[in-house]
Amino acid sequence: MASQSKKLSQGTIAVRGGINTDDQYGSVVPVITPSTCYRYQEFATPREFDYGRKANPSRRFVEETVAKLEGGADAILTNCGMSAIHLVSVALLTPDDLVVAPHDCYGGSYRLFNSLSQRGYFKAIFVDQSDPVALKEALSLRPKLVLIETPSNPLLRVVDIQEISQQAHDVGALVLVDNTFMTPILQKPIDLGADIVTHSCTKFLNGHSDLLAGILVFKEQQLATDVLWWANNIGTLTSSFDSYLLLRGLRTLAARVTLQQVNAQKVVEFLVNHPKIAHVYHPSLSSNLGHEIAKKQQKGFGSLLSFELAGEPEIMPKFLKALNIITLAQSLGGVESLICHPATMTHSGISAQARKTAGISDQLLRISVGLEDVDDLLGDLEQALAVI
Ligand SMILES: *Cc1c(COP(=O)(O)O)cnc(C)c1O
Repeated sequence: MASQSKKLSQGTIAVRGGINTDDQYGSVVPVITPSTCYRYQEFATPREFDYGRKANPSRRFVEETVAKLEGGADAILTNCGMSAIHLVSVALLTPDDLVVAPHDCYGGSYRLFNSLSQRGYFKAIFVDQSDPVALKEALSLRPKLVLIETPSNPLLRVVDIQEISQQAHDVGALVLVDNTFMTPILQKPIDLGADIVTHSCTKFLNGHSDLLAGILVFKEQQLATDVLWWANNIGTLTSSFDSYLLLRGLRTLAARVTLQQVNAQKVVEFLVNHPKIAHVYHPSLSSNLGHEIAKKQQKGFGSLLSFELAGEPEIMPKFLKALNIITLAQSLGGVESLICHPATMTHSGISAQARKTAGISDQLLRISVGLEDVDDLLGDLEQALAVI
């Protein structure tokens, strides 16, 4: 199976997940399996599945599909992105172990590592991974785990996965890459040296903003098996119904990501040329930190962008209120365009000082560009900017 999937392109793998696997009825799309338990073949002889906390067929289709997309040996689907990162922390780290995370990582990851390290579960430090001196200093502390998140949230800064993975491996650390923003359509961290890839499937992988899920993809089977023991131990599962919906969402992943990125590029061009916009952050711009790395490491620049409005802070709520299509909400990666104010929404769990250090100003807004007709999106931005 693995050798055949190598020949298939990403779009095909995504579309075909679980198709033609039903031998009982020959249903093209796989059936949903809500059963919590599975009949033993006979005394002391379980089948592939025995109890649903550990694994179930609906979850398995998603795990196999995403593992193939990321080029990993196996995957574990969890009930949300944070539980995937929590699971990997619990499974790999003991109180003396250190995790090195980016200073501008996803707000929830920052809060998780910060709060658990304060309770002594493990140690955590946050560094600017684009600063070679700071990175070297952090790695000299011999971390057990290095988290990479690129492009970063919300400033879309890009760091070199291959370079950081190499340095992390040199000190014996495992590399975990949060690939939520890029998806395996645009970036393949395992090919670049990562040991584990994680996603909030809530975002692009599902793409319809109607379920929460997370996933861990492992380069090596042994690590997957070890972490699966912990997944079953603590109970991080996703329901069969949500797994089914996620598999359905995945089918259009390549098409969605490709078109959303085309739309985003047009929004970037519009904002860059608008007098009421002070700054635009997007990996396609040469002004963006890591633009050259993005060209090398990504297959595209993605559909997330941020920008700062020029003018007094009071114009922000006016601008947001004037938008008719682009919705004020704190998620991303869905077919609908969303706008978010990181300081009061996604990054409110981070202290004002830490936000400042990470370069997240109170004037910053992030857009996840969706699949609406791009002229409608540009029109919406145009009229809202005319109000302020
Ligand atoms: C949303 C998100 C998460 C957390 O995922 P949930 O599904 O909300 O728990 C982790 N990392 C990134 C980059 C995210 O955008």
